[in-house]
Amino acid sequence: EINLNLNIRGLPVSATLGINEKSNQLLAEGKKIYKLGLGQSPFPVPESVVRELQNNAHQKDYLPVRGLAALRDAVAKYYRRTQDLAFLEENILIGPGSKELMFILQLVYYGDLVIPTPSWVSYAPQAHIIGRHVHWLQTSAANKWLLTPEELERHCQDDPSKPRIVILNYPNNPTGCSYSEQQLQELAVVARKYHIIMLSDEIYGELNFSGAHRSIARYYPEGTIIASGLSKWAGAGGWRLGTFAFPTELKWLLDAMAVVASETFTATSAPIQYAAVRAFQGGADLEGYLQQSRRVLKALNDWIWSRLDSAGVSVALPDGAFYMFPDFEPLRKKLAERGINTGEELCNRLLEDTGVAILPGNCFGRPVEELTARLAFVDFDGAKVLAAARQIPADH
Ligand code: PLP
Repeated sequence: EINLNLNIRGLPVSATLGINEKSNQLLAEGKKIYKLGLGQSPFPVPESVVRELQNNAHQKDYLPVRGLAALRDAVAKYYRRTQDLAFLEENILIGPGSKELMFILQLVYYGDLVIPTPSWVSYAPQAHIIGRHVHWLQTSAANKWLLTPEELERHCQDDPSKPRIVILNYPNNPTGCSYSEQQLQELAVVARKYHIIMLSDEIYGELNFSGAHRSIARYYPEGTIIASGLSKWAGAGGWRLGTFAFPTELKWLLDAMAVVASETFTATSAPIQYAAVRAFQGGADLEGYLQQSRRVLKALNDWIWSRLDSAGVSVALPDGAFYMFPDFEPLRKKLAERGINTGEELCNRLLEDTGVAILPGNCFGRPVEELTARLAFVDFDGAKVLAAARQIPADH
């Protein structure tokens, strides 16, 4: 223990995985637990993609470090089709989850990490492990927890020429909120002015309820890397397949990451990559699957939102994904009477008293004293609900 790397010392296991362990422990004790803590897709992997995996179970060779050529081509075409972006196969990097690729990006790029808060749990710990400096940018509930161009500009002005990666995640984990085209355009102006490397985490893009997700890469193509993968929209988190799309101007970063990849994970699992080709090629069945997924999530989202709203809890209305970020501040006095003064106390008490597992806002970079929490509404039988949704007319 004495020889533990100083960057690792004191870092706990990822918070979302932690709550899952505690929930499982209570489950094992026979308690009824509502698992709203872990951010996992409730839906099964689309059948045609599963079939591709079965058909390719015999694939056993190491694949190219950057990924199977056919998959990189399918991902490039996917972005041409959905975002009008001029990617080619050579612009794409495949990895065992976008999380791993984010870690390697931070490893190879010598600059600070800038993250709006609240944000996904793993960005900052990854930077700490590598020894990178993290800057948190403030957002407000009133503005749906979105980063404003003014706040980004204010941050950059302090040291205009400093190399930095800004992570923009939309639809957002933990809030579900996304940016409008105009907001993305305004952020792009600031990003261009300060030569920011924008890591655009769009892993929930296909789960935008409107079905019309827009990437900031449309407005800042030369400086944006788009992160995505199969984990959320194809329900395949456990398959571990992530994608990064680089503009040609940032190919040097892709090349550097490929060196690290070649010395670490070598290549992503071969059968999974063959199956992923099918997912990125799209088609009528995948479009149907996504439409139904969005419908189910939107219906749940609207119902939960209105229940929380009428209970006096303040919640920014999500645009996509399966998260919500309620703020129990309006109930602070009532909660204090029960000895609850922080988000953590709130979540612990909820789990013990009601079996509802959600995560406190401080896991997402919010102040400890805040009464915010993330709710992931995914504790249902996704296969059953999807099948039922298919029977209901689209306009219902
Ligand atoms: N980015 C966000 C915002 C996430 O919520 C997650 C997963 O929870 C990831 C990235 C990681 O996804 P992957 O499974 O591709 O590593």
